[in-house]
Amino acid sequence: MTLREMNAYKRLPSPAVAADGCDLVLADGRRVLDLYGGHCVNTLGGGDRALGEVLRSQWDRLSFQTNLLDHPPRIAFLEAFAKNLPPGDWEVFCTNSGAEANENALKIALAVTGRRRVVAFAGAFHGRTAGAAAVTDTKNPQFPSAPFDVVRSPWGDATAVDGTVAAVILEPIQSLAGVVEPPAGFLESLRKACDAHGATLIFDEVQTGNGRLGRPWASQHFGVVPDLFTTAKGAAGGLPIGLTLAKSQIAARVPAGLLGSTFGGGPLVLAAATEVSRRIAAPGFLENVRATSAALRKAALCLSEEGRGAARGPIERVRGSGLLLGLVLRPGNAGAAVRDALLARGVLVGTSDDPRVLRLSPPLTLPPSAAAQLAEAVSSLTSLEVPA
Ligand code: PLP
Repeated sequence: MTLREMNAYKRLPSPAVAADGCDLVLADGRRVLDLYGGHCVNTLGGGDRALGEVLRSQWDRLSFQTNLLDHPPRIAFLEAFAKNLPPGDWEVFCTNSGAEANENALKIALAVTGRRRVVAFAGAFHGRTAGAAAVTDTKNPQFPSAPFDVVRSPWGDATAVDGTVAAVILEPIQSLAGVVEPPAGFLESLRKACDAHGATLIFDEVQTGNGRLGRPWASQHFGVVPDLFTTAKGAAGGLPIGLTLAKSQIAARVPAGLLGSTFGGGPLVLAAATEVSRRIAAPGFLENVRATSAALRKAALCLSEEGRGAARGPIERVRGSGLLLGLVLRPGNAGAAVRDALLARGVLVGTSDDPRVLRLSPPLTLPPSAAAQLAEAVSSLTSLEVPA
């Protein structure tokens, strides 16, 4: 008998065997600076001691229980998570992944509006389950049909919202598309259009949330508050989690029996999410995100510490906010080749759907001083012919 993994991922050459803060140790013994952060998951880096203690003591006390019983980590989570929320009264539903979080946000929007049309955007990624995949823009194979009607609008275009629309779903910054920011006024136009037509506005904060933009949520960074938002990835610092949040007036209209999950909201994962929420709210945490963001921008462009000099090297400009950054390569440079060259120099970054854009999504605990390692790796590429 044999067992192999299905063909889902193209893996990098050397497996990771350990993580220490913002460093990864590879099987070949090399230590690399992890500027990809487990794809936005490792909010506190690898092996965070306080999170480890929380998990150990929660495991010993109550590792799992049915959702029919309440438990202390749930109460602590609601209190800690509420402290970082955008204005208003919110309710949360707990699941296990970003796709599930989006699936449930869409389900709620369709149920409370009684409509069956959803506006989504070119370049969007919302997950791989049926509803989340229906609003994702991909050439990859998906389900044969969508469970509701989807209108796909160009990014930046709010005109498709009318009285037939149940929901508009978007990533406030599109990550997989290549860290594409919303054009000026776009989020405000969507807010206005949804209010005018009784549609719900859903922000997918699977990547932009949990402090990643230097504020707890993108809605606070951009000053536009949605009706529902979702998160996952970094919310529990490495344990599977999905969270769907809805304004209380919407949550009050969710029909009984619509929502449910076996694992979602278990004690272990909520103890972890509580620790992550508390750390995001702690003095200096988000300041560090903003300071490290500024340092990485300068390093990527090979500027001096004061930000002086002309951009050199393969990176033409940097976009995004906080620690969700897109490094836009000069024409002729291919993302995957530059990623490989940086990895060979001890720095792990991510690619994106745009072959000219690399992504940085490191642990939010990365100190600004770590940018020096990126600067050294990038500047050593200036003389290198990186094939297109
Ligand atoms: N939404 C966004 C913006 C994502 O980036 C992802 C995953 O990359 C998802 C949703 C889906 O999350 P998951 O893989 O946890 O289902």
